[in-house]
Order: sequence, then structure tokens, then C-alpha cells
Amino acid sequence: MRLVMLGPPGAGKSTQAQRAAAKYGIPHLSAGVLLRTAVASDAPVGALAKDAMARGDLVPDDIVQAIVFERLDGPDTHNGFILDGFPRTIAQAKALDRFLRDRGLGLGAVIELKAKDHALVERIAARNANAVACREPRRIDDNAEVLRSRIHTYQRQTSPLLDYYRRQGILHSVDGMLPIAEVEQEIDRIVARLQIERVPDSDV
Ligand code: AMP
Repeated sequence: MRLVMLGPPGAGKSTQAQRAAAKYGIPHLSAGVLLRTAVASDAPVGALAKDAMARGDLVPDDIVQAIVFERLDGPDTHNGFILDGFPRTIAQAKALDRFLRDRGLGLGAVIELKAKDHALVERIAARNANAVACREPRRIDDNAEVLRSRIHTYQRQTSPLLDYYRRQGILHSVDGMLPIAEVEQEIDRIVARLQIERVPDSDV
């Protein structure tokens, strides 16, 4: 099962991707985590990514694609994966389609978590407060100003993906404002339907 989680920052993509990954026994691949790891490792690409991330801009497509595709070719993705935060541009979506097609594969579903802007700001503030309470490192891009930029970036560069995947017939939208457990149930229903509809031997 190959899934993509789509939605603005703070919509709950990572929370839901983690839950689904644990439940379905497939890896959760977060582009943001892969990029933050590259930045922390002082890899040359990390330096290029760091400034864009701190501003709330997107990291250039070629850098993200190289990091994500290397991970997707890892040994633990044979039964599928849940992509969180990738793709974020039409160019990335097309590159992902090509990457999978070259391997005789395709996406099973793209799950959009819908959320209202004011709720995103509140959620990111809560994520920050939680990080402080747990003495975890705070993300440099989790502040009000950068968050506004990230929401704007989502609307401008990522939301066109909704139509792209709608046209492919694989977009499923879920109300991300519902409590976490209800969002999870909605996602479970989508996945269950996919499994029922799946043509035997198809590989989505
Ligand atoms: P996230 O952890 O998903 O909120 O991502 C944190 C930041 O990493 C984003 O604000 C971007 O700067 C960068 N980033 C994550 N995924 C991508 C992507 N697919 N394309 C470009 N930049 C990305």
C-alpha cells in the first residue's frame, strides 16, 4: 500500500502517518524529517536546505527528490510506505509518478487532511508548548511568522496537487479538524475500501 498524506502545516499529517504506519506495518517517510536529518548531519545538501526551511520556503525540488527517492528505494518499502510532506509541488508529483512507474508501481491513495488556518496556528503553538514542556528541541520553523509563510507556500505551491490527484481519481479528503481518533477512523475506512476495491494481483 502506497499512500501520500497531503495538507497544510499543522493539519495532522505526521500524527496520522505515524499511526497508520504502525498499524499497517509500512514505513512512515517524512520529507521534513529526512531534510532535518540532512541539515543536522552537515551534509552539503543540508546547508542548501537549511535557509529555505528556516524561511518557510520549499527546498529546491532536485534536492528533496534525491533524498526522498534514495529513501524510497530502501529495503523496507517493498510492502509500501506512507509519504508525509512529499510531494509538495507538481514537479515533485510528476517525478514521483515517474519514479514509481519505472518500478511498475503506482500510488494507492492520496489523503488530504483539511484544516482551517486559525486552527493550524493554534496547533503549531501547542506543538511548541509541548516541546518546551518535554524539553524537546523546538523546530526553528515553528513560530508564528514562519508558519504564515509555510501556510502561504502550501496554498501557492502545494494545493494545486489536489486537482492533480483528483484527476487521477486517487484523492480522498478528510476533515483534519476532527479529533485525532476520528481522523484515524476515516483514514482506516479509506484504506479498507482500497483493499476491497483492489484488483487481485494489482500493486498499488
Ligand atoms: P515538515 O516537517 O513537513 O513541516 O517540513 C518542514 C520544512 O521542510 C518545510 O517547511 C520545507 O521547508 C521543507 N520541506 C519538507 N518537505 C518538502 C518538500 N517535499 N519539498 C520542499 N521542501 C520541503
